[in-house]
Amino acid sequence: MSLLVVGSVALDSVKTPAGEVTDALGGSATYFSMAARLFSAVSVVGVVGQDFPDEHIGLLKSHGIDVSGIQFAEGKTFRWAGAYDGDMSVAETLDTQLNVFADFDPQLSSEAKETEFLFLANIHPSLQRRVLEQVTGAKLTFCDTMNLWIETQLDEVKALLEGVTGIILNDQEGRMLTGEANLVRAGRTIIDMGPRLVVIKKGEHGALLISEDDVIPLPAYPLSEVVDPTGAGDSFAGGLMGYLAESGEASLDTLKAAVAHGIVTSSFCCEAFSLDRLKDVSRDDIDSRLRLFRDKLAF
Ligand code: AMP
Repeated sequence: MSLLVVGSVALDSVKTPAGEVTDALGGSATYFSMAARLFSAVSVVGVVGQDFPDEHIGLLKSHGIDVSGIQFAEGKTFRWAGAYDGDMSVAETLDTQLNVFADFDPQLSSEAKETEFLFLANIHPSLQRRVLEQVTGAKLTFCDTMNLWIETQLDEVKALLEGVTGIILNDQEGRMLTGEANLVRAGRTIIDMGPRLVVIKKGEHGALLISEDDVIPLPAYPLSEVVDPTGAGDSFAGGLMGYLAESGEASLDTLKAAVAHGIVTSSFCCEAFSLDRLKDVSRDDIDSRLRLFRDKLAF
């Protein structure tokens, strides 16, 4: 089944207790697609500037990711700088430079408009909506968002929520969006805003899958060393939606398995900076870690 992601393709500068990188490959759509390609064909819609290294495009292509929807615009690539300390659960954003994203007007190809699965990764909610409006008849559309947009573009975020099947967001964003401290209630409040599925990520504590009738908790895969959590949320979404696209349906049982695939995929992302670990992960690596994960949960 076809899977399309729109989001940032970025150069990230990140500092964690394990070290730092400058202008490393990053971006929400980049992490998502590097995770999703483990399960399904995936196409990226985004924009980069003239300074974006060819080798990064080459890396995505060599992993079978369709990059024909990445535009090269005049100007500089989107840049994000962040730092983590303590338990590394939340990134402190040090700098965001929209650059070529400021004037980005995504135009989908006729093939992209017919995608069956769509992920609106983290970018300005009006860009997410512009893509959503062009897609005709997708089976399943999920979006992400972030604290910046909830604080500054709340009406746009709410308008987006009216048109999607589901949202994947972290606990802090869920509380901020709803004013509810309790995450189950936050999930239910988001369902009242439009989507029928809510996935709340809780970092090292796993994730909650919330539907109208059910709440399913899953823990995180336990890691003894986290080098860099950047992109964990996007690779979680990539594993989850890649698995759904592979399965071709979204019953509650499949969604639960998809969340488990997201958790395991994102655990690899945290083991190195940028895409350095995720790019070397194979489907066999996912399947063996998934078996361990399943064994730990059986009781
Ligand atoms: P996460 O999965 O939440 O850790 O996402 C990290 C990625 O999101 C980084 O690679 C950043 O380039 C990207 N990012 C951070 N802020 C923004 C933003 N305002 N818009 C789009 N992408 C962003």
